[in-house]
Amino acid sequence: MSPKRMRFPRHSIIDISGLNGILSIFPGINTASVEPAVTFEQLVRETLNRGMLPAVVPPLPQITVGGAYASAAASGSSYRHGHFNRAVSRIEVVTGNGNVVQASRNDNPDLFYGCAGAMGTLGVVTMLQVHLIKSEEYVRLQYHPIGAAIGVLERVIGLPRETADTQPVDFVDGIMFSEDQGMMVLGKFYFLHVHGKLRCPPNKRCVACGWTIGSAQYNQNDDCLLEEVHVIDYLFRYNRGCFWMAIYGLPPFLKLPLRRHYTPEVMPASFWARAHQLHHPNTKYLLQTVEVPHETFVVFMKMLHDRPKIYPLWICPVKVFADIPRQNYSLLPRRSGYGFEVIIGI
Ligand SMILES: Cc1cc2nc3c(=O)[nH]c(=O)nc-3n(C[C@H](O)[C@H](O)[C@H](O)COP(=O)(O)OP(=O)(O)OC[C@H]3O[C@@H](n4cnc5c(N)ncnc54)[C@H](O)[C@@H]3O)c2cc1C
Repeated sequence: MSPKRMRFPRHSIIDISGLNGILSIFPGINTASVEPAVTFEQLVRETLNRGMLPAVVPPLPQITVGGAYASAAASGSSYRHGHFNRAVSRIEVVTGNGNVVQASRNDNPDLFYGCAGAMGTLGVVTMLQVHLIKSEEYVRLQYHPIGAAIGVLERVIGLPRETADTQPVDFVDGIMFSEDQGMMVLGKFYFLHVHGKLRCPPNKRCVACGWTIGSAQYNQNDDCLLEEVHVIDYLFRYNRGCFWMAIYGLPPFLKLPLRRHYTPEVMPASFWARAHQLHHPNTKYLLQTVEVPHETFVVFMKMLHDRPKIYPLWICPVKVFADIPRQNYSLLPRRSGYGFEVIIGI
């Protein structure tokens, strides 16, 4: 997804914007059949009406299901469910020779595993079956300040032990503000909003009413602070201010904390992109995510700190499953048993 509107000559693209329908939702078998140009905003609202959600929802609502599959997208629930493509059980693809092919773990597995993350190079996906999970209306968040990058690993590796007797954690992500200061945010589905009509604890900022980064920074000295937010506010929490990209290049009046706090809906990622383009037409900003095995995460963070030393960094652990026949797909890392990788958003 490019925040900048791209223009291509009509004859050089395959326009799939019309394939934007949710074909069916089968709550009984936890599955939705959707066309690729359906956005996650559409899909989340429709499935939530039935008390369900796609197992992985990328953090910007305008990302499409086809785009997320083509780029192996991930987000907070990837700690449990892996990349979005693992939540896809079947696809229909139009290949380069014009054939319409069905692919799943059993039918044409090469195409099925190959298309995930191939950015459209193996064909145009025209239908996807997406696995749904049961959702509650709220997410209860717990903020855990951490000292250094190693703290991310300690937190994530320790989680199965910590939650052995309680409800497991559904969402995990974090932000590093500097080399030795960060925040991990753990979330669990929650059916009640204990703060009644208030959207966050008094005198606190929460992800529902400000930028997520503001909330994380504000709560830094409050170990294990709890807050409950609506599940949609949580899932698309980085839409407001486009992670923290909105601090770059916006006209000063739009940066006021007061405005961020009280008018969050005027700062979605798409608004930021347009405002930035108008204000600084000749400056380019790049948002890059890098995914590394957890074994090399600390070394990689050290490298990033030496150069280019850009903060804040988004941190998102992604579960890697051993059930994918990785030996056949040389682009995938070889692993045995449970492991996880870490996405770093720069
Ligand atoms: C500001 C920003 C923040 C982001 N944050 C995250 C994040 O937190 N987590 C994450 O995982 N990703 C993130 N991304 C990346 C994003 O998930 C991918 O760029 C995704 O591919 C965008 O989907 P889209 O619907 O906009 O697709 P497009 O930009 O339209 O397409 C992306 C690619 O997918 C291919 N494609 C799209 N549809 C199909 C199809 N039907 N068949 C075959 N190929 C297809 C296109 O050819 C293209 O190569 C972010 C991107 C941006 C710009």
